[in-house]
Amino acid sequence: RDRRLRGLASEPAVTADGVAVTLTANIELPAEVAAALSNGAEGIGLVRSEFVFLNRATMPGEEEQAELLGDIVRRMNGRPVTIRTLDVGGEKALPALADYLGDCPNPALGLRAVRLSLRAPDLLRMQLAAILRAAVHGPVRILLPMITTGREMRQVRAALAEVAAGLRQRGVAVPDPLPPLGAMIEVPAAALAADSLARDADFFSIGTNDLTMYALAIDRANEQVADLYDPLNPAVLRLIQFTTAAAQRAGIPVNICGEIAGDPWFTPLLLGLGLTDLSMTAQSLLSVKQRVRSLSAADARATAQAAMAETDPVRIAAVLDQASASA
Ligand code: PEP
Ligand code: MG
Repeated sequence: RDRRLRGLASEPAVTADGVAVTLTANIELPAEVAAALSNGAEGIGLVRSEFVFLNRATMPGEEEQAELLGDIVRRMNGRPVTIRTLDVGGEKALPALADYLGDCPNPALGLRAVRLSLRAPDLLRMQLAAILRAAVHGPVRILLPMITTGREMRQVRAALAEVAAGLRQRGVAVPDPLPPLGAMIEVPAAALAADSLARDADFFSIGTNDLTMYALAIDRANEQVADLYDPLNPAVLRLIQFTTAAAQRAGIPVNICGEIAGDPWFTPLLLGLGLTDLSMTAQSLLSVKQRVRSLSAADARATAQAAMAETDPVRIAAVLDQASASA
């Protein structure tokens, strides 16, 4: 069975009725690019850039970040790479950023991700400069984590333009036009206002790991409530559905990069909700591709419709079980 999956690496991800699906990889470090490519990734849908900052006492400078990110872009050899800016705060131990973070009593609701970047403009600018320098080696998109308002998008976009101008002044090559700037949709407020946010974002990436946690007010790391964490909650599905539809209405690309994107059991539901761009760990790419090729987009729409008509997550799970059984 493994050999049959292996053989799928070079096959297209297309449904039985001809709908093309884009499958990309989530990575943390350049060393993972090889696995992404050998599993047939069409691009990198999410570079979790914070891993460059973890477990070290001093901050990497612009040069080191540019080299590391440029390495990823070069190794992808012309395939698109989406680089997310720093997504840290509170719960992640980051000695190099201790000065910025201070004490945070409620990390998930605190100075996290893009909020931290906007509070530490020198840090943000250094990272944007590194990303722009990496972007001369291939197609790059910039993704902002934990976006809540359009204002945050506009602030980062202004910083990006200034950083680009500064680099050009230094004689450093910068891509023209500048890379697209997208919003992670992982705060319920962003999902619910996705139609308005689409005016300030060039693309959306739905982060269902955090979106589920924030929508249900469930801390996944808290064992007392971990069993209540459920991406099949109808509220979460509606947030995904509305975000996807808002992106389509606005004519901007949307993908999904939470863990459920890499679980073939969810594939008919996600496709049926209109998502045709899924990003996941390299190890999941081939089994999701197999699932995509085994189903029809028409059946996926019927599955999603049946799932959205249910109010009980247990019954929604039964709809997905049924879709898997008929695969
Ligand atoms: C998410 O929140 O769904 C996501 C993809 O980002 P992370 O898991 O890095 O928070
Ligand atoms: Mg997240």
